[in-house]
Amino acid sequence: MTNLKPSAKALVPFVSVENMMKLINHIGIEPMLIGLADYIEADFKRWELFDKTPRVASHSDVGVIELMPTSDGDVYGFKYVNGHPDNTADGLQTVTAFGLLADVATGYPVLLTEMTILTAMRTAATSAVVARLLAPKGAHIMAMIGNGAQSEFQTMAMKAIAGIDEVRLYDIDPAATAKCAANLAGHGITVVSCKTAEDAMLGAQIITTCTADKQYATILTDNMVGAGVHINAIGGDCPGKTELAPAILHRAGIFVEYPEQTRIEGEIQQLDADHPVTEVWQVLTGQAAGRTDDKQITLFDSVGFAIEDFSALRYVRDQIAETKLYQPLDLLADPEDPRDLFGMVKRAQ
Ligand code: NAD
Repeated sequence: MTNLKPSAKALVPFVSVENMMKLINHIGIEPMLIGLADYIEADFKRWELFDKTPRVASHSDVGVIELMPTSDGDVYGFKYVNGHPDNTADGLQTVTAFGLLADVATGYPVLLTEMTILTAMRTAATSAVVARLLAPKGAHIMAMIGNGAQSEFQTMAMKAIAGIDEVRLYDIDPAATAKCAANLAGHGITVVSCKTAEDAMLGAQIITTCTADKQYATILTDNMVGAGVHINAIGGDCPGKTELAPAILHRAGIFVEYPEQTRIEGEIQQLDADHPVTEVWQVLTGQAAGRTDDKQITLFDSVGFAIEDFSALRYVRDQIAETKLYQPLDLLADPEDPRDLFGMVKRAQ
């Protein structure tokens, strides 16, 4: 990792939405997804080092606002993120986010960045890391159910990291599918637009559900899911917000990020609190088995965990050092005499 010490003048590098888009285009979408996946995998492999807590969630009737903190002892990070399924009807994003990285030794922030786009990238990279680990051998077709903001990122990560060369799209809103198909054109992946979820799942070895609805939805029913597939369930990530029929969960090997958080927010909120699940980091470190046979249904019950954001923040911090795609932000009051905060205000008159 590059030096994360705060600058002498305590100016904090800030990555705006505009600079994040420049950074992604400068690095390239697929290389950046691969880079993020490497950082996420490296941090999952040192999982036990991290401070971990389920995210702090403030719920309302229309959505949720959450803080997601963690630290590896040297660096501290957090993300602010919302989830408001009805926002799109008003022309707003369902999910928006920003995040911060700080030096544990001084407590000074060393990076502030937009994370709406970065969250889509890190969620997709995490999905692909897990799919590479658990999907059946030779998997190359993915059903993508829910064609909103996350969907192209999910598809591109599965292509770059998990060997997908065909994606079959379905959304209840045909305009979302048309948008997704148009965005994916020319990216070296076969795109098939479908009229039903069943059609989208034809021949797919990986099924990604990425819908947004604040209810116990049934995007997949039990009879839709055949043996041997890998399900990448992204959209069920809040109490009272799930995508899969409980019967599917009873047939699947279930893999999670941080059980303490997933039992509150994930598909497994529909199961007993002691239903067995496997932590992804344990599979990555060889401490637990992944897929056990060709017929097993593997389910990644993704809710998004703070360590993935930490990895993404760390990746961005390392990349901007070279590219200069940031602005120095006067975020911290830092007088020359640390005890003369009042004098600094007076001198500014
Ligand atoms: P979005 O609102 O942009 O897209 C959701 C899409 O789902 C819409 O196009 C909508 O028409 C479609 N949809 C709704 N009900 C459907 C149904 N029954 N069948 C098919 N399609 C349906 O949202 P987004 O930003 O793409 O996020 C999708 C979901 O992923 C949200 O629930 C969000 O909270 C979740 N999410 C999870 C993580 C994670 O780490 N697990 C990270 C980011 C977002």
